[in-house]
Amino acid sequence: MTTHSIPTFDGRALINGQRVAARSGAVFDCISPVDGRVLTQVARGAEADIDAAVQAARAAFEDRRWAGKPPAARKRILIKFAELIQVHGDELALTETLDMGKPVKYAKGVDVHSAANCIRWYGEAVDKVYDEIAPTADTALALITREPVGVVGVIVPWNYPMIMAAWKIAPALAAGNSVVLKPSEKSPLTALRLAELALEAGIPSGVFNVVPGFGPEAGSPLALHMDVDCIAFTGSTRVGKQIHVMAGQSNLKRAWTELGGKSPNIVFADCPDLDRAVEAAVGSIFFNQGESCNAPSRLFVEASIKDAFLEKALVKVPAYQPANPLDKNTVMGALVDTTQLHTVMRYIESGKAEGAKLLAGGEAVQPVAGGCYVQPTIFDGVHNTMTIAREEIFGPVLSVLSFTDAADVVRQANSSVYGLQAAVWTRDLNKAHGVARALRAGTVHVNQYDEDDITVPFGGFKQSGVGRDKSLHAFDKYTETKTTWIRIDSPI
Ligand code: NAD
Repeated sequence: MTTHSIPTFDGRALINGQRVAARSGAVFDCISPVDGRVLTQVARGAEADIDAAVQAARAAFEDRRWAGKPPAARKRILIKFAELIQVHGDELALTETLDMGKPVKYAKGVDVHSAANCIRWYGEAVDKVYDEIAPTADTALALITREPVGVVGVIVPWNYPMIMAAWKIAPALAAGNSVVLKPSEKSPLTALRLAELALEAGIPSGVFNVVPGFGPEAGSPLALHMDVDCIAFTGSTRVGKQIHVMAGQSNLKRAWTELGGKSPNIVFADCPDLDRAVEAAVGSIFFNQGESCNAPSRLFVEASIKDAFLEKALVKVPAYQPANPLDKNTVMGALVDTTQLHTVMRYIESGKAEGAKLLAGGEAVQPVAGGCYVQPTIFDGVHNTMTIAREEIFGPVLSVLSFTDAADVVRQANSSVYGLQAAVWTRDLNKAHGVARALRAGTVHVNQYDEDDITVPFGGFKQSGVGRDKSLHAFDKYTETKTTWIRIDSPI
């Protein structure tokens, strides 16, 4: 495949501190989208395995081997965990690339770095967060405290396997919970290594368990489990809706969902830096092969500058031709698997069939034989009613639309079931504020698209999900609020 030597992988689950096969003995092939090779066989977890992991997590929570540690002690261990992720960064990055196809330079520079940073940040935060005393009358003291919810089930997708896991396990563990993580069946390998590194860092057995497997077989039993207190999910809106139903059907566990997006990127004719806007529009949709929930997949350009904008955009496209993701210079790698490849190709065909104009790309290619690659693709002449403007493609496909004024573009931008992210480019401060306020999205960028930081909340309006990852707000998901009234009979 390349000069990289391919490591051997252990695909067994990690339950109660031990690597174990699925109770049924079943396995599934873990196939690399880079070239189609089988990397290893992975335990095909199901209800019995989820149940064992939940029991281990419950036992760990009840005896307080983790929750009972002082915050400063949890902090030290989480920081050690983050350090180990960095120490093993090359191995984790190579694993991520082989498992889901992203360029190895981003797997290392973005995914490993962000996952470690997230775990370190919540570790550092946890002994600096104070509880409250309510401003009641002198006759009583009302303490408002935060307690861990207990056993947290986590289900994540395949596009940023380590980062999506870290955004949930870091605040959940920092707050003192026990965790059962089910990674995507398309990218299970780094989650299993993370759990090993957590053990090595000193997180006690049973506190962080990983059960790989398919959604209906392993994910549903976790979401339905009567002894799971909270389910934190990132994935599609379709499955996210089922997660809320399963939470309600079972024990009314707290359900948090980070779901899909179809983010509008709005460029007004008075954009202060057209070259920067072009770079951001193209770079952000093609980053991670377009497999990003917050990818700006609907580009709205004011009619008077659209031709000039697209001329500049097309110059950028050749730089994003897919190539072997194990090559350190590659910026666009492989889609996660053949299913996703066919999904993306179906959307490209629907764009053509519904009358959009294909400006660039549109073909599946094979820079590495046996792999899953699609050219960076741009459609012009897209209308908001077309399938490629309404549905999340999750591939390197940009839909370009135009508009006449602020009211027109806000109406079009908000005409979506999603509300994850948006951007507006203008030098007019009033327009920037007015449009940003009118856009129904969890995050709005002004004159850039790439700012990101663990300190800010991430999540969506509408069908982009419920709740927020990142920042101190994430603690709200993994803690219960308790009020304790203490009567005071003053001797004075
Ligand atoms: P998916 O919904 O198909 O799968 C996500 C996870 O859910 C996987 O682990 C899968 O095994 C599991 N799952 C599937 N069916 C299940 C079921 N019936 N019960 C329980 N679990 C089940 O999504 P995907 O294709 O893995 O990921 C892509 C989606 O994730 C996109 O829609 C993307 O926008 C979204 N995403 C959102 C964010 C965000 O923060 N908003 C971030 C990354 C990805």
